[in-house]
Amino acid sequence: MAVSKRLRYEILTRDGEACRKCGRRAPEVELQIDHIIPVALGGSDDPSNLQTLCRDCNAGKASMPAVLICNEPDGRAHRQRSQPITHG
Ligand SMILES: [Zn+2]
Repeated sequence: MAVSKRLRYEILTRDGEACRKCGRRAPEVELQIDHIIPVALGGSDDPSNLQTLCRDCNAGKASMPAVLICNEPDGRAHRQRSQPITHG
């Protein structure tokens, strides 16, 4: 999970030392190096999979992978539509 200092510097410089989502910079925000595809989901440490995010934007993204995992197509099969009972 940890990104080397050299790689971190490379990504920060490439992204203009600003958050790629909100554009804020240090020291206003704490900039972090984020894996676009999380390592847990097979993402690599390649610069193409890394981006500069501030702490707030990174924290907001952190909950997304879990949602994606729960939102598998098979999930729809578990939902049953209840039919309204009509009185004739
Ligand atoms: Zn941000």
